[in-house]
Amino acid sequence: MNHPRENPLSRRAFCLCCVGSAAFTATGGWLTPREAFAEARGLVSLIKDSAAVSPIVTHKLRNNISVLEGSGGNFAVLTGPDGKVLIDAGIGVSRPQITKALADLSADPITHLINTHWHFDHADGNTWLNAAGAKIIAQENTRKYLSEVQRVEDWDYNFLPLPSGGIPSEVFVSELNLTLNGASIALKHYEPAHTDSDISVRFGEADILHVADTFWNGVYPFIDYSTGGSIDGTIAACDANLVATTDATIIIPGHGQPVSNRSELKEFRDMLVAIRESVATLKKQGRSRDETVAAKPTAPFDAKWGSWVIDSGLFTRLVYEGV
Ligand SMILES: [Zn+2]
Repeated sequence: MNHPRENPLSRRAFCLCCVGSAAFTATGGWLTPREAFAEARGLVSLIKDSAAVSPIVTHKLRNNISVLEGSGGNFAVLTGPDGKVLIDAGIGVSRPQITKALADLSADPITHLINTHWHFDHADGNTWLNAAGAKIIAQENTRKYLSEVQRVEDWDYNFLPLPSGGIPSEVFVSELNLTLNGASIALKHYEPAHTDSDISVRFGEADILHVADTFWNGVYPFIDYSTGGSIDGTIAACDANLVATTDATIIIPGHGQPVSNRSELKEFRDMLVAIRESVATLKKQGRSRDETVAAKPTAPFDAKWGSWVIDSGLFTRLVYEGV
């Protein structure tokens, strides 16, 4: 069942898709997501084991805002007298490394955590961060999904609800504006995109926009149709992100190189649009999903975007599902 795969994984961040990487690590070969998730219990353990030993790398941005990578999605931290404000939580087993990375930034206590969406690689650390003092804020769909068993069909996997401490205690529907540590923080719900729980987080004065998993910098994205995501919604979110930024804005993507900008975002958006059109044309011609994958509609983009765990075949299937 294992297929040899030449591309070694080039990033250390883990996410939903990294169950595939765990399979790769464990077997020396490659499992499709469905095959991988047939062994999901063991693989989630593998992900956690891997996250447990991954280093956390801190990138300082502007105005006491940093982005940290190495535990699931890229997560941001604002420091100051009101306490640390985290945008996403990473994976729980990274607690020792995250604790150290946060302490290296400042002595401020952890007081707030904002989840950009419900996925494991962004919210699994909620429980320990709440115990450490963080009030958790999210869009209402994030609270709903974190409170129930969630089946992600494309991974053939059921995620369990978080313990009560990990469930967001303050939720909003479309927008929420906060002022903490002298910074204006604007939370805004996207139309359904990567999921239907995604939000962006804007630090006004610093001109930094965390766009969550609506943008994967330099790698094909996962799209979660099980909780409202779609290719067209993802493209629409990119367009909204382009409208909301300038060339001076620092953009934090959910995955991939964590300090990004508008031109990289535009390149991601243009890649999505081109592949969406190619896949839609093949589907209109009556090709099955497997025939569409075999036609390699992503070929012009694979060298740049396809070297991570969402490979060309999986990304083609995700696009096919939505056109
Ligand atoms: Zn996600």
